[in-house]
Amino acid sequence: MSSLTKKLAEYEDFELAFIVAFKKDLIATSVNNQVQEEVISRKLSQEYMDKMVQEKLAIDIRDHDKKICPRCTSKKILKNKEEFHGNNKAFGLDSGKPLTAIEYQVCGVCGWNFLVDETDYERKKRRTSVSISIVLLVLLVLLMTYVLHWATS
Ligand SMILES: [Zn+2]
Repeated sequence: MSSLTKKLAEYEDFELAFIVAFKKDLIATSVNNQVQEEVISRKLSQEYMDKMVQEKLAIDIRDHDKKICPRCTSKKILKNKEEFHGNNKAFGLDSGKPLTAIEYQVCGVCGWNFLVDETDYERKKRRTSVSISIVLLVLLVLLMTYVLHWATS
């Protein structure tokens, strides 16, 4: 048994369904084949997998705390690290050490990226705070206009 087969055996049905639905085009053919084998060995029909995916997508997860995927609800969250290097080798600026590194978490099942993806709830919350800032800004401008008008007349 390969390590991947063993790993796939630990996945729940819905997690396999999400891999098929979201990552099929992103993973290597060999991995895809093993996912398919696992799906077949569990006798999961396409209809059943579609239904599981739809059910999970319908769940509104607000407080995920980066421990549970807000899209597929899996707890298989991976930590990724991306390093950025200076590319000015000719000037001797590249010390070999990264200039900066970002750590971010992604869902190991469906690929949800906590750094860039946001839930509907998070999007609404962000938009609301932006609108509030705009309203406050407009009020401030009106107040300034009023004060200036009063001061100069
Ligand atoms: Zn996920």
